[in-house]
Amino acid sequence: MQAAATPEMADHPFRGVWDTPFGVPPFERITPEHFRPAFESGLAEQRREIEAIAVNPAEPSFDNTIAALELSGRTLRRVSAVFFNLAGAHTNDAIQAVEREMAPVLAKHRNAIFMNEALFRRVERLYDQRENLGLDAEQRRVLDRYRTIFTRAGAQLGPEGKKRLAEITERLATLGTQFSQNVLADEKDYALVLDGEGDLAGLPGFLRASAAQAAGERGLPGKHVITLSRSSIEPFLQFSSRRDLREQAFRAWTGRGERGGATDNKAIVAEMVALRAERAKLLGFPTFAHFKLSDMMAKTPEAVRQLLDQVWQPARARAEQEAGALQALVREEGGNFELAPWDWRYYAEKLRQREHAFDEAQIKPYLQLDKMIEAAFHTAGRLFGLQFKELHGLPVYHPDVRVFEVQDANGRHVGLFLGDYFGRPSKRSGAWMSSFRIQEKLAGEIRPTIVNVMNFSKGAAGAPTLLSFDDARTLFHEFGHALHGLLSDVTYPLIAGTNVATDFVELPSQLYEHWLSRPEILGRFAVHERTGEPMPKALLDKVLAARNFHQGFATVEYVASALVDMEFHLLPSVDALDVTAFETAALDKIGMPKEIVMRHRTPHFTHVFSGDGYSAGYYSYLWSEVLDADAFKAFDETGDVFDPATAQRLEQFIYAAGYRREPAAAYHAFRGRAPEVEALLEKRGFRAAPAGQPSGEV
Ligand SMILES: [Zn+2]
Repeated sequence: MQAAATPEMADHPFRGVWDTPFGVPPFERITPEHFRPAFESGLAEQRREIEAIAVNPAEPSFDNTIAALELSGRTLRRVSAVFFNLAGAHTNDAIQAVEREMAPVLAKHRNAIFMNEALFRRVERLYDQRENLGLDAEQRRVLDRYRTIFTRAGAQLGPEGKKRLAEITERLATLGTQFSQNVLADEKDYALVLDGEGDLAGLPGFLRASAAQAAGERGLPGKHVITLSRSSIEPFLQFSSRRDLREQAFRAWTGRGERGGATDNKAIVAEMVALRAERAKLLGFPTFAHFKLSDMMAKTPEAVRQLLDQVWQPARARAEQEAGALQALVREEGGNFELAPWDWRYYAEKLRQREHAFDEAQIKPYLQLDKMIEAAFHTAGRLFGLQFKELHGLPVYHPDVRVFEVQDANGRHVGLFLGDYFGRPSKRSGAWMSSFRIQEKLAGEIRPTIVNVMNFSKGAAGAPTLLSFDDARTLFHEFGHALHGLLSDVTYPLIAGTNVATDFVELPSQLYEHWLSRPEILGRFAVHERTGEPMPKALLDKVLAARNFHQGFATVEYVASALVDMEFHLLPSVDALDVTAFETAALDKIGMPKEIVMRHRTPHFTHVFSGDGYSAGYYSYLWSEVLDADAFKAFDETGDVFDPATAQRLEQFIYAAGYRREPAAAYHAFRGRAPEVEALLEKRGFRAAPAGQPSGEV
């Protein structure tokens, strides 16, 4: 059946089969004008499919209900994947307009599916008979997940409740989009222009080079520009000896989303927190945090609190020692001021140079982007037998995007990996993994197309791009997510790849970071950009020994954000919330050191407010860190960080398993026991490793 087609709908590029290699989207044929009609036909197609399932006169069966649901919405999935990847990685005004328009429409569409009564009755019938349907374990899991999704969407509510819930979700979708567009606008809007040697005081060569590049891109040749992207602002705060400029840049960075005017996010946050609390109540939970956590590995706010408290106390004590040492350094240099947040990174870098006798500028020439990509691939080869071949000439959405074919040890196609590494004004800040196509076997053997997006500062023309150690770790982190998508081996798309609980999804990514720090990897791939010489053993040892430097600061920065996120979402109801005052009060309550600012302040906390993703969920990184530290210990205990038997279990139960099992069960299957928090405290240097045990990965 054809929808009444307008001319542009008839030939939008999302219709029909893509005859591109590996089914990559034909980017060169896609323009922003195609999205609206493509979304419309995708939505119409899925509405017809859903209606057909709901009114099917046949008795509900797994195939005619659950599998049919899984097969519905193909066009919509395809359009959404391309659209949202571009909205994050290469957006423009036209795409942003479609994004604002589509966010509530898509939320409404999803509501209509998961609040469809006839459909829910069929799912309930199947769920009641689940023991007698002859389902295999994966089908049983998919049925359970669908029932959970329906009930969490409010399928069991009466008409009034459903109506209100639908309004709330649509409004939240609109607000979330506005929130992230406002942050992007504040980031795009800001450039600290450095003019002349005085402004550049203290900045090392790599930062001058990338700042010159950024200035060139903004039409300011001969000058230097610092942007609010982490890989520009952080080294600036680390090296600039101009205290006034540090303060200026720091205020702009931590004030994103809070500058008043059209891009201010405070009112948006207040409304989102209120709506989330109301939504939870409608669904029978005391607060949004209770609602959110009930479908996570953590299960309850108490479990999260317990973990955060366990880490907060030692981290805060450590951070205060660190602040004392920095203040002493300020005095020693004749500074007559109290250490401020914009001083921390600068004096910490000096102290690091003194205590560990190296600086970032010394390491950077050894951390070339291309070599680090190779290192991430090599690690995947050692662990999982994967091979990577760069392909040229495939359609890409920006000339900087690189494409690799991934094959297994026998040369079988595993998937496509896209690497989009450099910052640009059309990209939102941060780093992430996403997909253009996820793995499944329901509609034939479909292999995934996965992308990693970074915001590294591009090296000057003709020179290699050099990374900081943090950048390299981000690269390994996102590549761990990519492997979770690439190695996926399930039948049903609902549970494929990274479609797992938020507090479990960081395990594959954070675990992967451990291999970067191994001498086996760094010793081989950290080679000097000019001489090709490996990093000298002494420097390598220093880098590794310095990893616990200022863990107090890093942990406080992070845990403060996680606690504030939790506080907002533990409010049982909300009326005219003063967001800034609430944030300040929450930080006072935990005794936040005055020299440290939250890693993500509320008005630009996109993890929590650009969508539902990490709302009441920022703790997930730490939760997953308990798992990753404990999981890496499984390798350490064998004496071989590439131990084949351990790697095989890791692939089977974690990287390839999608959401086939509850996270606790999946972890248990891999490790042979439940996770223990000790390895995390040792890893962060808050507790000594027991004698005779290998201490982390040094
Ligand atoms: Zn991650």
